[in-house]
Amino acid sequence: MEEKKQALTVNVVTPDGLIYDHNAQIVVARTVSGELGILLNHAPIIVPLAIDEVRVRRVDDETHVDWIAVNGGILEVRNNVVTIIADTAERERDIDVSRAERAKQRAERTIEEAKATQDADSLRRAEVALHRAMNRLKVSKHN
Ligand code: ATP
Repeated sequence: MEEKKQALTVNVVTPDGLIYDHNAQIVVARTVSGELGILLNHAPIIVPLAIDEVRVRRVDDETHVDWIAVNGGILEVRNNVVTIIADTAERERDIDVSRAERAKQRAERTIEEAKATQDADSLRRAEVALHRAMNRLKVSKHN
């Protein structure tokens, strides 16, 4: 018989590899339709994620919360394993703040130019880039 799990396992996977792998009490993520909290024995789901932060309260440290900036992707829960697959994801301690600041400024400039030239594609891409940069800056502040 399968042993009953006492904690969630949380994995975050990107094309760069496994960037997070810990046991957790709770995971909170933002899906495209709202915030989702996952505790032990959550029903199986697969949902698309927003560009936002994921927070994880680990079992081995009551006081600490891990924060991860995810660039969309999907979240699956099955058998107490939470798997997040995203194009990019960074833990708060791995975020290069000045790089994110530069990306934000670049995106803001591009947005202004795209508005002036009515370039809808460029505007949309720059708005997503701005969102990614702002999310990284937000997550880095939890450090
Ligand atoms: P930039 O314009 O600075 O490259 P970007 O949003 O275009 O930002 P992405 O394409 O989302 O970057 O990511 C490319 C790679 O760089 C990924 O591995 C991602 O984790 C990493 N990355 C991007 N920005 C940062 C950052 N500020 N700190 C740490 N890693 C980052």
